[in-house]
Amino acid sequence: AAKRAGGNRIEVFTEDMRVSVHERLAAEARLREALAGHLPWTLPLWFQPVVSTVTGQIIGAEALVRMRTPDGKILSPYHFIGAAEETGMIVPLGQHVLRSAVEHLIYWSGHLGYVSVNVSPRQLAEPDFVPALAGLLAEHPELDPSRLVLEITETAMLASTVDVSERLATIKRLGVRIALDDFGTGYSSLTWLKSVPADVVKLDRSFVAGLAEDQRKSSIISAVLWLARSLGMSTIAEGVEEPADWTALQAAGCPAVQGYFFSPPRPPEEFQEMLINGVCVTPLAQFT
Ligand code: C2E
Ligand code: MG
Ligand code: MG
Ligand code: MG
Repeated sequence: AAKRAGGNRIEVFTEDMRVSVHERLAAEARLREALAGHLPWTLPLWFQPVVSTVTGQIIGAEALVRMRTPDGKILSPYHFIGAAEETGMIVPLGQHVLRSAVEHLIYWSGHLGYVSVNVSPRQLAEPDFVPALAGLLAEHPELDPSRLVLEITETAMLASTVDVSERLATIKRLGVRIALDDFGTGYSSLTWLKSVPADVVKLDRSFVAGLAEDQRKSSIISAVLWLARSLGMSTIAEGVEEPADWTALQAAGCPAVQGYFFSPPRPPEEFQEMLINGVCVTPLAQFT
């Protein structure tokens, strides 16, 4: 891997990697520029609905950051989160995401239950993370903190030098909820489940896609649903793409789902349109 030494980058790359290194440097420069001042325009949040399998209605949304390039293209986090993590810019980026998510959530009060935000391991390890979060909530006393959900992955616990479960417990005392993201893909999911005071399990899409035709996947899902319920946690299935998978999840008693089946992440104006029009799954239920 490329390493930095004395301010000079020493890069070892093949022809194939050349493009991605350039892309990465461009993304890094853009991030730096964006975080210096023109945030809302350059780093918008898109929103993907979370839908109840009971009512078919939108109960919440996940905020997913995007980067707008000078030529108007929209980049997925895949192109810049890695660079943000490595340079430490994930910290101010994460603050921007939290702040913007809270503003949208307040704006959509009465229409939207909650918004979840992804928090990277590095962000969570930052000593200032909890004070900054508490400060943000104090700025918005009209917001019920339980309407804000922080999504954490298992790598946060494995890679961290701080006591993550302790930190999450402090966050929970603020009233903010915690979700275990990409659940099932880590190395010690059960340890994670045991030691972290989470409210929601987000079952990774690798267990979800095609589950209607896969007995092993549906057995795993039933077991996770049971386990989560026994621990007083709710479950969201990620990456639901097919009507058959929606039906299977509904039948298995999975309370909520997220996926292209219902909607991809959308820019705020489009997401708001769905909220206000009360778009729900009912019309698609005819597929079942
Ligand atoms: P994630 O948190 O697991 O988010 C779910 C990803 O799956 C999103 O990709 C979403 O667009 C995608 N997805 C949703 N439904 C479906 C589906 O039905 N099929 C398939 N194939 N994919 C689906 P996205 O927006 O590109 O984000 C990728 C990852 O980047 C996120 O994974 C999250 O780990 C990270 N990320 C996004 N926004 C932020 C952020 O603000 N901060 C941090 N630290 N990480 C973020
Ligand atoms: Mg997530
Ligand atoms: Mg996820
Ligand atoms: Mg994922």
